[in-house]
Amino acid sequence: MKQILMIATGGTIASKSSDTGLKPLITSDELLTYVPDARGFCHADTLQLLNIDSTNMQPFHWLKIADAIKKHYEAYDGFVICHGTDTMAYTAAALSYLIQNSKKPIVITGAQKPIDLEITDAKTNLMDSLLFASHDQAYGVTLVFDGKVIAGTRAKKERTKSYNAFSSINFPYIATIQDQHVIFYLDDKKLLTGPVQFYNTLNDRVALLKLIPSMEAGVLTYLADHYDALILEAFGVGGLPSYESGDFHKAIDLWISAGKTVVMATQVTNEGSNMSVYEVGKTIKQEFHLLEAYDMTLEATVTKLMWILGQTTNPEEIRNRFYQTVNRDILYTAKW
Ligand code: ASP
Repeated sequence: MKQILMIATGGTIASKSSDTGLKPLITSDELLTYVPDARGFCHADTLQLLNIDSTNMQPFHWLKIADAIKKHYEAYDGFVICHGTDTMAYTAAALSYLIQNSKKPIVITGAQKPIDLEITDAKTNLMDSLLFASHDQAYGVTLVFDGKVIAGTRAKKERTKSYNAFSSINFPYIATIQDQHVIFYLDDKKLLTGPVQFYNTLNDRVALLKLIPSMEAGVLTYLADHYDALILEAFGVGGLPSYESGDFHKAIDLWISAGKTVVMATQVTNEGSNMSVYEVGKTIKQEFHLLEAYDMTLEATVTKLMWILGQTTNPEEIRNRFYQTVNRDILYTAKW
């Protein structure tokens, strides 16, 4: 019988209605009572780590979750984290960097409807997650939702209300789960070598700025005083406005000369960036050696930078680590 630790952090799955709206009130032990059939394949213990709406989730909470898993790593075969859906993709990506090379599955799940409702996706999602965390072929950080298993770095919340809230971006689903049966599309646990690695530092001074056609370059200049890294969510395959004033060019120069990190990403969800295509991207990339997110999700780009900047401030080291694939996060590293 597999030993699973179920860590509860709040979210809709654990929420009840109140005068002020849905809020997390259901405990970890209560959550488990809604999936009695899980006793057929695992023994689950519970840990009530937080009970918050995931809108309130912050990087120090990610460290707390990773630390809880580290403390209990030897005692369990797998982990299930119940979490709100709003920032679940960020937590899944953050944990992918904080806990690397884990042969034991670490599954994040939640629901669009509270578990105590008659009609809800919560019971299926929790049951599927416990099942996947108990599976011999499962490993690493994944997100399980609506019958899909998504790599922790590839998930994105794309629907606010439907049960199929999450998609796997620029990467196939690892597995699907139907009627308590797991079908693997990617079955590569045997390729994993080396021990599990835990990290316990993040630098959260990472800003993400979405370009819009009216944006003033002064926003970038302002952010340089407050952050160590900037991710620009640009248009299409990636580029920067090259208005006659040269303001954006000057703003990037300011960032780079201060030894800070600038990453070009795209606001288009699918297929990723490639700054080499257009003059508005190519020239600025060549001049400033900007990093680019390529096929990474924005959630993975943000949390990867927080993880890297928590380990080093050396620009070359930052570049090397950024382009190293962790938990399937980046495949399209072109000719950087
Ligand atoms: N606001 C909730 C949360 O993220 C939404 C959910 O769980 O679906 O905690």
